[in-house]
Amino acid sequence: MNSSHPRIGLGSDRHRLVEGRLCRLGGIDFECPVGPLGHSDGDAVLHALCDALLGAAGLDDLGTLFPDTDPQWSGADSSQLTAAVVDRVRERGFRCVSADLVVQCDRPKIGPKRTELRAKLAELLQLPADAVNIKGKTREQVDSGVEAVDVTAVVLLVAESL
Ligand code: MG
Repeated sequence: MNSSHPRIGLGSDRHRLVEGRLCRLGGIDFECPVGPLGHSDGDAVLHALCDALLGAAGLDDLGTLFPDTDPQWSGADSSQLTAAVVDRVRERGFRCVSADLVVQCDRPKIGPKRTELRAKLAELLQLPADAVNIKGKTREQVDSGVEAVDVTAVVLLVAESL
C-alpha cells in the first residue's frame, strides 16, 4: 500500500518505575535508582515511538507485533524492536521525516541527555538529529504514589518515493 499524502502517527506508553531495574529510555542507559518495569527492557520512549510509526503506517501496534506473552521478547532490547518497526514501515512504502516526543517523569532527568537521546532516536529512524526532538517534563507532583514514566510521540511519514 502506498499514499502520496503525509501521514501523522501518535503513540503513547506508560511504565511503572521501580527500584533495581535498568533505567533505559530512548535506547540510552541512565544512572538512576529506578527503571521502567516491563516484559522487555521497558523502554517507554521507544515503545511510544514505535506505536506512532505503526499507527501512521496503518499497521497494528507494538503489542501485536511483539506480544508481551512471548518469551522471545523477555528483556528484549527495544532498539531492536524499533529497527524491526522501521523496516515494516519501509516495507509499507513509507519513510519517517520527523518525530517529536514528550517524556513525563520526575526521574531520571531527560534534559542532561537530550542531545544524546536525539542522536540515538535519529540513528534508529535514519534521520538527521534536527528532525527529531524530545522534551522532558516533570509530573508536577500529581502522582498518586506510583512512580511512572509517561511518553507521547508523534511522527510524520511520507511515501518513500517523495
Ligand atoms: Mg511499553
